[in-house]
Amino acid sequence: MTLHGGSAFTRELERRNCDPAKRRWLFVPYDQLSDAIGPLSRQDPSELGIVLLESPWKAKRRPYHKQKLALVLANLRHFALEQAGRGVAVDHRVVRGSYGEGLRSIAAEKGGLTCMEPAELELRNDLAPLVREGLLEVVPHEGWLTTTADFRASQKGSAPWRMDAFYRHVRRASGWLMDDDGKPRGGKFSFDAENREAWNGEPPAARLPEFTADEVTVEVAELVTERFAAHPGDVRLASLPATGRQAIALWTWAKRECLPWFGAYEDAMSTSSRTLFHSRVSALVHLHRLLPRKLVEETCSLDIELRSKEGFVRQVLGWREFMRHVHAETDGFRSLPDGFAVPAETPVERTSAGHGAAHDTGARPSYLGARAPLPPAYWGKPSGLHCLDEVVRSVWDDAYSHHITRLMVLANLATLLDVSPRELTDWFWVAYTDAFDWVVEPNVLAMGTFGVGPLLTTKPYVSGAAYIDRMSDYCKGCAFDPRKSCPITPLYWAFLERRREQLEGNQRLRMPYATLDRRSAAERARDRRVFDHVREVLGASGHLTPQSLAQATAR
Ligand SMILES: Cc1cc2nc3c(=O)[nH]c(=O)nc-3n(C[C@H](O)[C@H](O)[C@H](O)COP(=O)(O)OP(=O)(O)OC[C@H]3O[C@@H](n4cnc5c(N)ncnc54)[C@H](O)[C@@H]3O)c2cc1C
Ligand code: SF4
Repeated sequence: MTLHGGSAFTRELERRNCDPAKRRWLFVPYDQLSDAIGPLSRQDPSELGIVLLESPWKAKRRPYHKQKLALVLANLRHFALEQAGRGVAVDHRVVRGSYGEGLRSIAAEKGGLTCMEPAELELRNDLAPLVREGLLEVVPHEGWLTTTADFRASQKGSAPWRMDAFYRHVRRASGWLMDDDGKPRGGKFSFDAENREAWNGEPPAARLPEFTADEVTVEVAELVTERFAAHPGDVRLASLPATGRQAIALWTWAKRECLPWFGAYEDAMSTSSRTLFHSRVSALVHLHRLLPRKLVEETCSLDIELRSKEGFVRQVLGWREFMRHVHAETDGFRSLPDGFAVPAETPVERTSAGHGAAHDTGARPSYLGARAPLPPAYWGKPSGLHCLDEVVRSVWDDAYSHHITRLMVLANLATLLDVSPRELTDWFWVAYTDAFDWVVEPNVLAMGTFGVGPLLTTKPYVSGAAYIDRMSDYCKGCAFDPRKSCPITPLYWAFLERRREQLEGNQRLRMPYATLDRRSAAERARDRRVFDHVREVLGASGHLTPQSLAQATAR
């Protein structure tokens, strides 16, 4: 990813850039692209310089979706231009190897650098030697809305950790959506139970805004397409917000078109709208093109139903912050709290990834002992299961799908098939524009697969076909009948049977186990055969049909 001399970006940066002499230099990682927080927000731009790095090594470290690479790179380059435009000196470089390796000589050259604490554990570890050597000073990250002390106080110092306790604590501490008498607005902290409506086409789903790419963004798209040709997906410029203005335009659209109905249809899924009323801001929030505080404050002042307002605030102030604390507290699940240790699939591996940098392939907790490979269907081989194929197609088209598709289709099916939590996590990590270690690992290893057991969630989020049928229109276009031939329901029963030892004592699973126990021995034997058949067919890139399933599982 070496820059072409004379590229539109280089030319424009040279034109705008200022005299770098006598500046205090900051290192701004790819996901801290804001001048409204941290040292960059406080000092006179004419006294500051920022170092912005591109690391092709990092981009090639995993087969990231091309849209993800383009989104990060285009935002970084536009941020460089925006900062040069306000008088900050910009030192933009393409480095060999990791950020830490690239930064060492630059930090020495500048007489030291300051940086807000990186959100990603990978980056914190990469930069740690520079911090130890005194070349990099790390200051607190001002983008977060809560502190480690908030997290610990909310959990009374011990695990298991629960999001609702954290959320109540930070609502009280922040005062957001709280009345003067100290009570939550509307009499309760969460309206989640009311936010479970299926969507029948009304109100019309929000239509995504389209963005016009300028020369700099087009150049990034060409670069990514050419240099990362082997990576999956394509760059879609119309859905790639790259400038500060485009980020604001996306948020303005979300406030107007999505948030009024966010609550009601939060759990709905549809073939006719991949977004429904979700905001699609996650990737830009993680890059800090949009600040979480702005999102929460502006949502609180919208004139919309309280259940929508509260529902959205809970996602940003609650779930997003909670996940980040969990990741930090466990060192990315490498160190689990006392009493919550879980068997690891295989020990954490350390491999050399070229350029002399060792790289960590991540924790592999597997509470349920799941370790099967991810079926090729997740990479786009049609499986015959319409819900899965539809969502997978949308992921590879958009590098995005909303929460319920992630949880109740992709993670659900993988869990029912005993797929390795690590392998599923790595898939999410490369496929989605909003996946960074601190957020993707807790969401998949913990919430999506129950990979760390009851540390974060009371039970696995698994379901049979009835849930998918109730909350989506996927079943209407499927060769399987959700009430008769669909394999997902027997997969669900077979899962509960296989995991009886670990899950039967769980109070929240009392009813499902009672129902399972009423299934006849013949039904349970068929559930097992469905599991074996589906695993075998999907594992071999095959296509399931009601006929072949009936044949293979009949006795
Ligand atoms: C298996 C699985 C994997 C996931 N992987 C990721 C991931 O890699 N990155 C990611 O940002 N989210 C992840 N999520 C959480 C959630 O699905 C996405 O944040 C959300 O779908 C992003 O789309 P949106 O901006 O339209 O969100 P909206 O539905 O509009 O929600 C608003 C915002 O709330 C925040 N948010 C909501 N839920 C979560 C959550 N569970 N964790 C963190 N932030 C949350 C996001 O910033 C999001 O933009 C995952 C969820 C599951 C079940
Ligand atoms: S019938 Fe089963 S496989 Fe088909 S879409 Fe519905 S839940 Fe998915």
